Amino acid sequence: MNIILLGPPGAGKGTQARILVEERNMMQLSTGDMLREAKDSGSEMGQIVAGVMARGELVTDEIVIGLIREKLCSDTQGGVIFDGFPRTLGQADALGKLLEENGKQIDAVVEMQVDDAALIARITARSTCGACGEVYNDQTKPWPSNGKCINCGSTDIKRRADDNEDSLKQRLMEYYKKTSPLLGYYYARGDLKSVNGLGEIDQVKSEITAALK
Ligand code: ADP
Ligand code: ZN
Repeated sequence: MNIILLGPPGAGKGTQARILVEERNMMQLSTGDMLREAKDSGSEMGQIVAGVMARGELVTDEIVIGLIREKLCSDTQGGVIFDGFPRTLGQADALGKLLEENGKQIDAVVEMQVDDAALIARITARSTCGACGEVYNDQTKPWPSNGKCINCGSTDIKRRADDNEDSLKQRLMEYYKKTSPLLGYYYARGDLKSVNGLGEIDQVKSEITAALK
């Protein structure tokens, strides 16, 4: 089963993708993570995208489609979760073609609905473990007081450069302008399922499980 998680920044796509990876042996393809890796590696492409990402703008379709194309060549037996991709209609078309070429298809698109106030609160409180990617929230799931990640014991707490209010406003604007049209695109194809992303992590997980049945 190949699925897309769709929703604004902070909707909880990454958190739910990690759960699906653990429970269903699926493979998470997060273009945001791939771009951050490219940035950290200091590659030429990484240097180009760093400024774009910090401002909260979208990286070009060409770059992200190239990243996804590379990954789809590998073994994707357990199915793929697309997290943060596609983000434009051009990317959605390209993904459809790429999958078709590989004899695959999208089986479901899960929209995670969250209101703007909640997004801003979540994102400005967000941190992650630099070693394993565990996601924390200053209010609801604070970094342990012993300084060690609950999942892997690392002390490498990270905050994203674009998790500040200015970039976030830009990211939300990009979402409404360029990504939200995908809801209509997938609805028209009969693939769209919507879940309430405002609940507890477990509750959202159950809704996604039900949506995928
Ligand atoms: P979030 O959904 O929380 O904004 P991501 O980690 O998915 O975060 O993406 C972070 C940034 O990476 C985006 O603001 C954008 O600059 C870039 N990016 C990620 N995926 C894409 C994509 N599919 N197309 C264009 N830019 C992307
Ligand atoms: Zn960790």
